[in-house]
Formats: sequence, structure tokens, C-alpha cells
Amino acid sequence: MSLLPGILKGLATTARTALRPTHTAEYPDVAPDLPPRSRGVIALLEENCTSCMLCARECPDWCIYIDSHKETIPATTEGGRDRQRNVLDRFAIDFSLCMYCGICIEVCPFDALHWSPQFEYAEVDILDLLHEKERLGGWMASVPPPPALDEKSAEPAEVAAANKPARGTGLVGGGSPGGPGARMPRTVRPRPAGARGATPPVPEPEPPADGDAS
Ligand code: SF4
Ligand code: SF4
Repeated sequence: MSLLPGILKGLATTARTALRPTHTAEYPDVAPDLPPRSRGVIALLEENCTSCMLCARECPDWCIYIDSHKETIPATTEGGRDRQRNVLDRFAIDFSLCMYCGICIEVCPFDALHWSPQFEYAEVDILDLLHEKERLGGWMASVPPPPALDEKSAEPAEVAAANKPARGTGLVGGGSPGGPGARMPRTVRPRPAGARGATPPVPEPEPPADGDAS
């Protein structure tokens, strides 16, 4: 007899739960609605990479592999010097070791690495999680655009520098535009004639007298 209240309580719980909306994810039939900045995979923008090795050195798991060689670019002007640049031969990330900390993306000085929300790259063999630059580059298409700046945030340094007047148009102090040492342009007023330090007026040349043989 004492079982009846328990059974009724259980049935009430079942009925209440059955009436609630379901939260079951129907993946893979229905793609999950992920936040745009999800850390799915790391994408590489190859043309931005200078093979500086900063990301590989800072990676705590040592799972970034970079190979490059130097290429000589001939001088474009006569008497100029040839230049050298790094050419990226290999850029690979072993996602079986990666812990998705994002340090490599943070330290890259050239915005060559980005988070993509793409997550469907599971493999049967763990060794197949080592992905080369071609695959990393393909994920760039799924990288969302950066979020808009806050309305009241400071202007980015690059934009502020680009909007400053060019050198020679009033910047004094020898500083770069926007950098330390740059001062506001000065308004220079002409001094009245005769004032101390004023430039003396230049006399007008005398017109030649009539019949002058010179
Ligand atoms: S996210 Fe972290 S662990 Fe993964 S490659 Fe970048 S630095 Fe290394
Ligand atoms: S991805 Fe960035 S930090 Fe890494 S080698 Fe290329 S430029 Fe350097």
C-alpha cells in the first residue's frame, strides 16, 4: 500500500517531463548552432605568414611544424641591393597534440592564424590529425569576420596613424605620426615689421634709368 504514493509521484514526473520541449541534439542530421567565435580548428592565411617561427616557439605542446627557405629578390633599381624573403615550405599542426589554448593565434604578429568554428575533422587514425598548410588554408573560408568594434572604443592605432596628416604638413618634434614625440601643429603668425626678430623687408630693385648703357 505504501508503494502507491511513490508510483503516482513517478508517473507525475514522467508526465511533466514528457510535456517539456526536448533538448536532444539531432547531430549529424541537424548542424549545431555554435557561437561564431567557437574554437573549432586553427586556420592558416598562408600569404600573411612570414615563417617567423614565433607560434612554433610559443606553442606549449610543440605541435606546430614549420619549414621554410630563403629566396633572393633582385633589386628593382640600378645600384640597389637584392632583398631576401622567407618562403614557407611547410606549415602543419598536429591536432592530436594541440590543446586549443590559442597561444599561437595570439602571438602571431601578422594575423596569419585564426579560429574557425569548423569541428568536423575527426579521423579514425590519430596519426591522420596532423594537417598540412593546404588543409589549414582551406579552413580560412569558415573563419567569421571580426566582431565590430565597440562604439566608444579607442580608434585602432593603425587607423589613427593613417588618418594623421603626413609629415611636412605641420608635424613637429621628429616623432612618427601618432607616436611619442609627435606634437600638435603650430600656427605661425607673421610678425609686424620692425618687431624684434622680424625679417627686414627686402627693398624693391630700382628700375634702370633711361639711356643706361648697361
Ligand atoms: S592552440 Fe595552443 S597547443 Fe594548439 S597549436 Fe596553438 S599554441 Fe599549440
Ligand atoms: S603563423 Fe604567424 S607566428 Fe607563425 S610563423 Fe607564420 S607569421 Fe610567424
